[in-house]
Amino acid sequence: MNEPFKEYQGLLTERSTVAAVIFTLALMWSVGQVTFVGAFFVGAVAVAFLLQLEIKRRMERLENRRSAIREKRKSKTGTSVLLGASALDRLPSPLLLVDADKKIAFANESARELLGTDIDGNEVFLYLRQSNFVTALDNILEGRFGDFGVIRYTTSKERSFDVTVAPVLAGKKMNDGVRAIVYFYEVTSLLRTERMRADFVANASHELRTPLTSVLGFIETLRGPAVGDLDAHKRFLGIMQTEAERMVRLIDDLLSLSRIEMTRYMAPNAVTDINKLVGSVINSVKGIAAERGVEFTYEHEENVQDVVADSDQITQVFLNLLTNAAKYSDPNTKVHVKAEVGRTGKHALLSITDEGPGIAQEHLARLTERFYRVDTARSRKMGGTGLGLAIVKHILLRHNSGLDIKSQLGKGTVFSFKLPIPQKKDENS
Ligand code: ADP
Repeated sequence: MNEPFKEYQGLLTERSTVAAVIFTLALMWSVGQVTFVGAFFVGAVAVAFLLQLEIKRRMERLENRRSAIREKRKSKTGTSVLLGASALDRLPSPLLLVDADKKIAFANESARELLGTDIDGNEVFLYLRQSNFVTALDNILEGRFGDFGVIRYTTSKERSFDVTVAPVLAGKKMNDGVRAIVYFYEVTSLLRTERMRADFVANASHELRTPLTSVLGFIETLRGPAVGDLDAHKRFLGIMQTEAERMVRLIDDLLSLSRIEMTRYMAPNAVTDINKLVGSVINSVKGIAAERGVEFTYEHEENVQDVVADSDQITQVFLNLLTNAAKYSDPNTKVHVKAEVGRTGKHALLSITDEGPGIAQEHLARLTERFYRVDTARSRKMGGTGLGLAIVKHILLRHNSGLDIKSQLGKGTVFSFKLPIPQKKDENS
């Protein structure tokens, strides 16, 4: 039975009891059993009792309603605190709220992941001990606000963060107890890119400086001690030409790398005949290969022909890989170029297999880095710039593909990659 009905039922029974009392008294008075004053007095007491009961009930109802409103308000604040906490939890960046005792009042999910799952309630200096952080937090807690700059925090796992501390002004209910907010902004990849750029500039300068120093040295010799020596002139000019040509190749490779990077997010859409392309590259490098007694073979499955590719860039890929195979292979060996259709029929699998010295496993992961060489002296002697495989990698990245390298010392190396085969449109669609 519902509450209001019960209440009214109670009221009804009370009313009827009082009515019955009054009726009985009236009856008793009419037959002369009680005096009029006595009956009136008892009746009045019964009515007063009924009124008092009614007032009490109304007061109770009012109080119930008030406490229901209070409860509702309380749970609303609770929900918004909870909502705030869960929103902060979803932040990808670590964040801490610190109270006046320098204790962690709240740590979001990312902060717990970074600093430990049981950090709530601990002193914040257990985790951030940098003197500039300590100063900034002390200042904030003592009410001296200002720009405290950025604090660098680096973990043992080489993750770096820029940490900022800001005051949280007291007074707002939700922030009770919280005095400062500590925000972590991850800069690991930014620092890595910065380091890579600095390394690249240093490497490129070094690569250009070496031949330039040698050219300057020869010029000095030719103008000084070898001024009248025709033989020396001939020899030195030859070396100077080789060095100058190497510098030109280096600059060409650097320019082509930056051009490729500029087109990184422009997916190629031209249809290219891969058999023709490979045939023409083999023709152009046949000369250098023949000098070293290296021979190329090309084998392709019957249904391999068209691929979606930027033909100039894929020509560059084959040129670099075949030149390397010819350069680094042992004399009188073969280099096998192969084109097959991948399992799903959506890609052509291209591979270049040489019978050269092979590459040790520890070098494989770094081989496509700019200027990374297994044997720098040998690469330089062969006229290498150390950029060939980096160019290959970046071109393949633009083609949404990657270079796979498998090698066995003493047996040879296989370089392979995939290129998409254009898909015929369904005639019904
Ligand atoms: P480089 O101009 O030095 O040839 P690359 O980027 O083309 O630069 O190649 C990087 C290094 O990888 C080379 O210096 C060489 O040590 C190694 N390398 C590349 N291709 C082969 C190969 N087919 N066999 C053995 N080593 C290779």
